[in-house]
Amino acid sequence: MTPMVKADRVCKNFGALQVLKGVSLEIDRGQVLCLVGPSGSGKSTFLRCINHLEQVNAGRLYVDGDLVGYSEKNGKLYELHPRAAAKQRQDIGMVFQHFNLFPHRTALENIIEAPTQVKRVSKKKAIERAKDLLDQVGLSAKANAYPAQLSGGQQQRVAIARALAMDPKLMLFDEPTSALDPELVGEVLTVMKQLAKDGMTMVVVTHEMGFAREVADQLVFMDGGVVVESGEPRQLLANPQQDRTKAFLSNLL
Ligand code: ADP
Ligand code: MG
Repeated sequence: MTPMVKADRVCKNFGALQVLKGVSLEIDRGQVLCLVGPSGSGKSTFLRCINHLEQVNAGRLYVDGDLVGYSEKNGKLYELHPRAAAKQRQDIGMVFQHFNLFPHRTALENIIEAPTQVKRVSKKKAIERAKDLLDQVGLSAKANAYPAQLSGGQQQRVAIARALAMDPKLMLFDEPTSALDPELVGEVLTVMKQLAKDGMTMVVVTHEMGFAREVADQLVFMDGGVVVESGEPRQLLANPQQDRTKAFLSNLL
């Protein structure tokens, strides 16, 4: 079966700065991959490449068998038309560290925005679905609240619901709990755990090793723009092979 994500020696640089130096990995459908590594190692850049918010400079990146951002003919790459690239991105949900909700829209309005504007779903249908999603993230009572009236944990759960409203086949999470007060982390992880149980394919950049151990199928340690080590989370956490992985993990504890 085609993997949901396949990265084959993906490189990305910003000018002279080489950020991704040949990242290779695969994620099967329904799997959860947790990506960890020191600050500056290229984790966010890699997620942004998957979502075509950044353009890969070399290597190949596929989502669901489709080359991200390019079409390929006779071994040559052609940049996709922006409209075609935007279409690819529609199927990928992304959740950021800083929720990025529209401040002047209610929770419900935030959730129906993309389906009604981008997918041309009727407002009535979008509202029905948004209510189900709010229920799924435990926020039925907050449909009409504005972001400022919600805690960080609640805002992040709305952000997850908003991403799910586009019916993504893949969800990317970039340190979704890093900006939260410690007592609010659990409620967000619980929602993510349930999503994983329901079969969503997920890439999660996180420092929450408990979550990685419990939920992830694959743990990938990245440093300096390369995958240093990857494996089954419990095994990798209990028995890291590389010195850089050992140093990173011991700093977390
Ligand atoms: P991480 O998420 O692992 O902390 P990032 O992917 O955010 O790492 O960043 C990796 C490196 O790329 C950093 O040195 C960062 O400053 C640099 N970088 C990220 N985005 C840009 C950009 N748009 N322009 C220039 N440099 C960038
Ligand atoms: Mg980052």
